[in-house]
Order: sequence, then C-alpha cells, then structure tokens
Amino acid sequence: MSLVDLGNCLVRCTTVPSVLLILLSTATLGFLSFLPVRFGGFSSKTRLAFIYLHLTSFIFFIATLSISMVCGMFFLNVFLPAIPILLFAGMILTYLIGPRLYLSSLHAHETKDEKLNEWASEYARVMDTRTPTIYVTKEKNPSAFSTYGTKPKICFSSRILEDLSPEEIKAILIHEIAHIRMKTQIIKVSLSFLRFLTPFSLLHSFLDIRPQEDRADEYVRKIQGTSQYLNSARDKVFRFYS
Ligand SMILES: [Zn+2]
Repeated sequence: MSLVDLGNCLVRCTTVPSVLLILLSTATLGFLSFLPVRFGGFSSKTRLAFIYLHLTSFIFFIATLSISMVCGMFFLNVFLPAIPILLFAGMILTYLIGPRLYLSSLHAHETKDEKLNEWASEYARVMDTRTPTIYVTKEKNPSAFSTYGTKPKICFSSRILEDLSPEEIKAILIHEIAHIRMKTQIIKVSLSFLRFLTPFSLLHSFLDIRPQEDRADEYVRKIQGTSQYLNSARDKVFRFYS
C-alpha cells in the first residue's frame, strides 16, 4: 500500500460521522488532560489520574482509527492498537519487578541497623505513609534512592552512612520517604512512558521532576525545622563527585 492509498483510507474513515465524533472527542480529552500534566499544581494522585486519562484517550484514538481503517491491512488493524497496549504492559512489569532487579544488581541487602529502621518507621508515621524497608549497598559512591514496586524501599550506599552525621542521614531519609509519599517513582515511570506515546511530547519533555524534589525538600524543612542538615549532606556528596 502506497502512502497515497494510506492517506485516502484515512480520509475515508474520518468521513464516517460516528468515527469522526469519537476521534474529535478523544483528541479534545487528550488535549484537556495534557494541560494539568504540563502545568502541575495538583496533588500526586490527581496528577497520576490526568496522566492516565491522557494515555487512555490516546490509546482510544489510535485504536478507533486503526479499527475504522477498513483497508484490509493487518498492520493497521492489529499491530497499531497493540503497540500502546504492549508498552503499557511493559511499563507495569517494569514498575513491579524493576526495583527488585535493580537492588539485586547493586548487591543491596536489607539492613539490620536498628536506629535506621526506627527512624524510617518514625518518619513514615509522621508523614502518614507506609514504612519502607531499608537496604544498604557496599557502593563506594555516596548515593541514596527510594523505590516502590510492590513495597516501599529506600537504599543507601554504605558510603553515605559512613560519611554523613546522624542528622544528615535523617534529612536524606525524610527526603526519600517524601518521594514514597508523593508516588514519585510511579509518576516518573508513567511520564517516561507517556513521552513515547503522546504527540504532546513535542510540546513538553514530561521529564521535569524539580517540583517533586522541591516538595521532598519541603518535608525535610518542616520535620527537622531547618534545611541545614540537608544542605550539608548535599555539600558532602557534591564534594565527593567534584
Ligand atoms: Zn529526590
């Protein structure tokens, strides 16, 4: 099939009023749900809802288009709607299994450090979120990250625990628990998935996670009453890498 035939086929299916109505409605819904994702200012749950509304409208648009294009092309009728669905399944699998695989690739193990576990459950309670399991790696670089999957987890490199003071470790811990509370990981995975699927990624990169970082720092400021320990912890980490 040439491009001209494909174009004709596309035009023919958009002349069917019911198909055109569905295409216009899903495109409008896609545009309207893009605006809150682009401009933010909503809670994590609402933002996630808009991300998935945007994705669903796009998948629906592609599926309607490909099913309506009755040109007898297997690719258009079956493969086109299958691509976003397969990507979606891949994203869920990555979200559920990815953290475990990543932690085992770092040879991370659950820590028995009582103080660290106590702080984690205390701050999780203060922030009204699930207590994360704390992992430690023998990495030589100072690093810390949180991840979710089936259960919340925070991983510290032993370098962080050796070089930072208890208050600085607490500051990092609060920052990471805030990410768990704000669902940063699922938002990040969803946004990177969205980048491949939506034409709106031409207008917006979807990768700006600074608002999440600022809000996580805000939790530290509120709970510790100061940013002093977070700043000094960051200074130590930057000095290591510079
Ligand atoms: Zn962060």
